[in-house]
Amino acid sequence: MTPPLGRRQLLAAAGATSAAFTLTGTDGTAHAAADRAAAEPTAVRPFPLTAVTLLDSPFRDNQRRNSAYLRFVDLDRLLHTFRTNVRLPSTAQPCGGWEGPDVELRGHSTGHLLSGLALAYANTGDTVLRDKGRTLVAELARCQAASPGAGFRTGYLSAFPESFFDRLEAGTGVWAPYYTIHKIMAGLVEQYRLTGNEQALDVVLRQARWVDARTSGLSYERMQQVLETEFGGMNDVLADLHALTGNTAWLDVAERFTHAQVFDPLAQGEDRLAGLHANTQIPKMVGALRLWEEGLPERYRTIAANFWKIVTGHHSYVIGGNSNGEAFHEPDVVAGQLSDNTCENCNSYNMLKLTRLLHFHTPDRVELLDFYERALLNQLLGEQDPDSEHGFNIYYTGLAPGSIKRQPSFMGADPDVYSTDYDNFSCDHGTGMETQAKFADTIYTHDEHALLVNLFAPSQVVWRERGITWRQTTGFPDRSTTTLTVIAGRSAHRLRVRVPSWASGARAALNGRALPDRPKPGTWLTLERTWRAGDRVEVSLPMRTVVEPTPDDPDVQAVLHGPVVLAGAFGDRADPWLSRLDVDSVRQESSDPLRFTARADDTDVTLLPIARVHHQHYSVYWLTGEPPPPPPEFAAWHRFDETSGTTASDATGNGRTAQLVAGAAWLADGRIGGAVALDGVNGHVALAEDLLAGASAYSLATWVRLDGRPGTWSRIFDLGTGVTANLFLTPLSGDGTLRYAITAGGAGAEQRIDAEPLPTDRWVHVAVAYGDGTAVLYVDGAETGRNTAVTVEPRRFGNHVRAGYVGRSQYADPYLKGAVDDFRVYGRALSAAEVATLARPT
Ligand SMILES: [Zn+2]
Repeated sequence: MTPPLGRRQLLAAAGATSAAFTLTGTDGTAHAAADRAAAEPTAVRPFPLTAVTLLDSPFRDNQRRNSAYLRFVDLDRLLHTFRTNVRLPSTAQPCGGWEGPDVELRGHSTGHLLSGLALAYANTGDTVLRDKGRTLVAELARCQAASPGAGFRTGYLSAFPESFFDRLEAGTGVWAPYYTIHKIMAGLVEQYRLTGNEQALDVVLRQARWVDARTSGLSYERMQQVLETEFGGMNDVLADLHALTGNTAWLDVAERFTHAQVFDPLAQGEDRLAGLHANTQIPKMVGALRLWEEGLPERYRTIAANFWKIVTGHHSYVIGGNSNGEAFHEPDVVAGQLSDNTCENCNSYNMLKLTRLLHFHTPDRVELLDFYERALLNQLLGEQDPDSEHGFNIYYTGLAPGSIKRQPSFMGADPDVYSTDYDNFSCDHGTGMETQAKFADTIYTHDEHALLVNLFAPSQVVWRERGITWRQTTGFPDRSTTTLTVIAGRSAHRLRVRVPSWASGARAALNGRALPDRPKPGTWLTLERTWRAGDRVEVSLPMRTVVEPTPDDPDVQAVLHGPVVLAGAFGDRADPWLSRLDVDSVRQESSDPLRFTARADDTDVTLLPIARVHHQHYSVYWLTGEPPPPPPEFAAWHRFDETSGTTASDATGNGRTAQLVAGAAWLADGRIGGAVALDGVNGHVALAEDLLAGASAYSLATWVRLDGRPGTWSRIFDLGTGVTANLFLTPLSGDGTLRYAITAGGAGAEQRIDAEPLPTDRWVHVAVAYGDGTAVLYVDGAETGRNTAVTVEPRRFGNHVRAGYVGRSQYADPYLKGAVDDFRVYGRALSAAEVATLARPT
C-alpha cells in the first residue's frame, strides 16, 4: 500500500457513477456545533466487547460461523497431546495438520481456541462458549499439575516435551516453542480478562514463572540466540501479566524477549526488514508497544511506531497485507513480489493489533484507522469461506494473477478447501478463530468526552459511563452512508466520526437537516451537543473509483472503490499473467452489491470486492498502458572480449550494453577470446533493460563453465520483473535438475523444462529457444528437453523487463561460481541447426 493513498488517480468515467449524498438544506447549525477546534483527544480507550453488539452484516455472519466451529470442536481432541505429554490418559483421536502428534508446533491451536472462546463469549454472551473455555482451562490446569511427574519443571504447560527448549537453547534446531507457549499464555489471559476465570490467571502465572526460571539463567548472548527462533508475542503476554498483577518482575522477564537485532535498527528508523520472516516480527512490535504502555522507556514505542510506518508505507500490498512467501522483501516492491503466497493472514491479524494500540495513543491519526479498514475489509473479512458451516479460513491471500483462495499445498490434504475441522490447524486457522470473533473491538473507542466512530459496520454500543446507547445502521461499503442513532439515554458529549482519506465531499445531517461543514478527507467530523434518544446523525462518505499504481511499476495497478479493493472474478480459469486492463472501461454496474465491469485482454470481466471472491480465480493487480514493441531478431550479443572497465559491449550494434557488477571480472582465456568470471559471492552481469520486453518468441544462448558443484537455485541467466515474472536457467534446481522455467505469476505458476545436471569444470554450451508454445532446452547443441505447453511469454511480464542478469537470481539465491562467454539474446526462436552451429567448436 502506498502511504496515505497519495498516488491514486481518479477514474473520471467510473467515478461519475458513484452514489453521492444530496443535501437538501444546510440549516443545521442551530442544532450542533461542528467543533473540530475542540481539544483533540490524546488518548482513547476501547469499549469492552460486552458493550458492542454486531448487527446483521457480513461481519456478524462470519462471527456466527466461527462461533459454530468453536461450539463444535472437540476439546478432548485438542487436549490429546497435552495429556499424553504428561502421561495422563487420553483416548481421543489425535488431530491432524499442525496439531499432529509429531508436529513441533502442536498445542498452538489450543491456545487460539482459549482466546477464540473468550472473545466470542464476551461479544455474544453465549454461555456455552464460556463454559467450554472453563472446562478447557481446568483440563489444562490438570496437565500443568502433572508436569513434574513427567520430568518437566513446575509450571510447564505444553503439548510437546520440555526438551524442545533444550534444543532451542542449544541452537540445534526446533520449530518455534515459545511461539506456541505464547499462544497458550495469551489464551489464558483472555480467559481471565473476558470471562473472569480466576483459574486461568493462576495457570498462566505458573507458566510465566516457568518462563522466568527457564530464561533467568541464560546469558544475554544466549538469550539473543534463542530469540532468533520465532517466539510470537512473549513480551506482549508478559506485559499483560504486569498489567494484571502489578508485579514489575514480569517486565523484567518480558524484556528478556527484546530482540536487539530487529529492534535496534527500528529504533533508528532504519528499514532492515528485507529477508526477515514477516510474522515473526509483528507480535514483537505489539509487545514493544505494550512494554511502553506498562511504563518502560519511550524507545519501545518508537520501535513499534517506526515498524508500523515502514511496513504499511513500504512493505504492504493494496489489500493491507504484507509478505511474500512469509518474508519481507526489498522496500517498495509490490509488482515484483506477486505470488499465491502473499499476505499471510496472521500478519494482518497482528498488524491490526498493533494499529489498534497505536490508535489508542494517537487517535488524531486517521491514517491508522484507514489502514485498519483496508486490511479488515479486504483481507480478513474475506479470509473465511462463506460456504463453510464452521467458518474455515485460508492461510494466504494470494495476489498472483489468477490466484484462488485455498489452503497452500504444504498444508497437505485437499488443496481445494480453505481449512478443515481437524486436519489443518495452520497458524491462520488459529488466528482466524480470534479475528472472526472480535470484529467488534475497534468499531468504537472513547475518551471521557468523546465517542469515536472508527469503522462503519452495523452495530450498537452501550456507553455505560455516559448512560447512552448508540446504534450504527449502514449498508457500507455497498452504501456510502452510515446513520448513527441514539436509541436510549441522554448525555452531553462529542461524537467524532472518522472521515476516511478516500472520502472527499463528506457531508453530515443531524436529525434530517444538513450541516454546513464539509469535513476534509483524513479528519474527524465532530458534533457536540446533549444527545437524546431519537437523535440521528447521517454521514455520507462518497466513494470514488480509483486506480492505485504499485510503487515499483506504475503500469501495474489495482482498482479500488472507496476503501474496497476490486478483483477481477475469473471463474474456473484465469490466465497466469497480469491481464491488460482498459482503465477507462471500468464501470459500476450496481452499488448493491458492489459490482463493476471492465475490458481486460479484450475480454469482458466482472470486478467484485476481493473479500467476496471465493471458490474462483481472481486477479487484484492489472497491467495498464500500452504494450512494448517486440525486440529485434538479434537483440543483444555479449562477446565479453573486453579486458578493462565494467561495460560489456553489444556486438549486434543495438547498443544494449551490459555491466559487470561486484565480483564479476574479465577473464582473458575464455571459450572464444575473453570471458567473464563470476566469483559465486556477488558477481554478476546486469543486462540491458527490456531486452525481451514484448517478446512472443525468443532465444538465449551462452557458453558457461561451472566451477565445481553449483549452488542450488543459482542462475546462469534470469530475466524478469522480480519474483512475479521471470524466465531463468538454473544449473541446479531443488530437485537436482538443470531447469529452465518461465512464469508471470510467481514460482507457483512456473512452466518448466527439467534435464540432467550440467557437467562441471569445463565449457558447456546452453541454449533455450521458444516460439509457438514450445520451449526447447539444448546442451552442447543437442536437445535435452522440451515443453510443448508453454503459454507464458515475456510480453506478459509487463511493459518493462527491468531485471536481467547473468549469474544472479531474482530471488535471494546463491550467485553463480564459474564463467560465461558469448552470451546471445534473440527475439525469435533459433532452430536446432542454428543452436548446433553456436555450440560447435571453433
Ligand atoms: Zn499464519
